[in-house]
Amino acid sequence: MSSSVALRLPSIDGLLRHPACAPLAERYGRDLLLTGLRQLLDELRPDVLSGQLAAVEIGHEVLAGRVGERLAQQQRSQVRRVFNLTGTVLHTNLGRALLPEEAIEAVEMAARYPLNLEFDLASGKRGDRDDLIEGLIRELTGAEAVTVVNNNAAAVLLTLNSLGARKEGIISRGELIEIGGAFRIPDIMARAGVRLHEVGTTNRTHARDYQAAIGPRSGLIMRVHASNYSIEGFTARVATAELAELAHAHGLPLLEDLGSGSLLDLTRWGLPAEPTVRQALLDGADIVTFSGDKLLGGPQAGLIVGRKELIAKIKKNPLKRALRVDKLTLAALEAVLGLYRDPDRLAERLPSLRLLTRPQAEIHAQALRLQPLLADVLGEVWQVSAVEALGMIGSGSQPVARLPSAALCCRPQVSKRWRGRYLLNLEAALRGLPIPVLGRIGDDALWLDLRQLDDEPGWLAQLPQLQVDR
Ligand SMILES: *Cc1c(COP(=O)(O)O)cnc(C)c1O
Repeated sequence: MSSSVALRLPSIDGLLRHPACAPLAERYGRDLLLTGLRQLLDELRPDVLSGQLAAVEIGHEVLAGRVGERLAQQQRSQVRRVFNLTGTVLHTNLGRALLPEEAIEAVEMAARYPLNLEFDLASGKRGDRDDLIEGLIRELTGAEAVTVVNNNAAAVLLTLNSLGARKEGIISRGELIEIGGAFRIPDIMARAGVRLHEVGTTNRTHARDYQAAIGPRSGLIMRVHASNYSIEGFTARVATAELAELAHAHGLPLLEDLGSGSLLDLTRWGLPAEPTVRQALLDGADIVTFSGDKLLGGPQAGLIVGRKELIAKIKKNPLKRALRVDKLTLAALEAVLGLYRDPDRLAERLPSLRLLTRPQAEIHAQALRLQPLLADVLGEVWQVSAVEALGMIGSGSQPVARLPSAALCCRPQVSKRWRGRYLLNLEAALRGLPIPVLGRIGDDALWLDLRQLDDEPGWLAQLPQLQVDR
């Protein structure tokens, strides 16, 4: 092209009237289209003036296409579905439990229609949102009463504040834990207005340690399930039943924060034993707190169950209002809890339990099936193998336990100094797919644990788009 011919950008008006822009105006609205066109032309102007652009690059169709891409990009939701192939099933950063169909339908109903959230249909009077799930939770845990809040962190905060403010909370030094996201038991106690009275040592705490701490300023005894770490070796802890006896002899309530807390004994599905809520209550804990979206497999929520008069006190705390759950959560929670009434079919119906109990042989067969397809896409630089792998439950449940699984293990066949770079590029490429694929890098390889690959067709369909930088 001759540089003597001065190129000129099309006018905004001309572009707006062009048929190529009509569908964009229809889809995104005239305002967004106009803004998009102005920005694009402003960006191109210097290159046009300096003669760096050819006429075809500033044709009406081409510019409309570029604006269309931009608008689509801007329109794309920030909340995105991903493939969780990290090997951690209840991944806090990836949304924890997946809801069963029954809960999804319940959420949809609650989103679409008015409902009896705080309205007693029998009497026609004002109701309490906790009443909607109280019966089910009592049945499933044996608790006298129940209240539900935003998450388990809120459950712990609210319980401590309601029952122990301006008094001392006695707790073993081995249970002063930090859970991800800066939730630390000592800090939460302080925020709840409870004075921390720590007893025993990190590895061993005895009944006499608690006994010696009890005095006129005591408000409660707390026990925290050491979810995300384990103390092994020379250890001692007081059984809940014994601790409850001690607490009650001094008129103190015993709180037990189970963290994950399971409603059923998981060993029946071959999973590691987790303390059940029912057992903690049977052992004498007065209040038990646990999460809705960890092993329970439901929506984010914090469940507080236990003695009637204590729950009543907790519900009267003004903080309860600040921490309450919304209608979507309650609808989902009720549906999930309903599935627990039929334990025999729970592993089929509750996605988190189904995924946690998927047999290794089945996952391995899937890995063998996908291995040649991924190898083909990645090309010769990558050695892709179907291997056994170890996953985790996640969300602080059973930090030491591993779930026997299978993975696609991708190793770059390059010299050691380049391996890290290749792995990061592959990781970024997988993350850049329309439905981002998240694996984990370790041991000079990228691992895609297939335990949670339910949508195999969806995963395969986007493989051809994978482009790894070298
Ligand atoms: C996970 C956990 C919490 C926090 O629960 P969230 O539902 O994540 O708020 C509190 N205590 C323990 C022991 C936990 O494991």
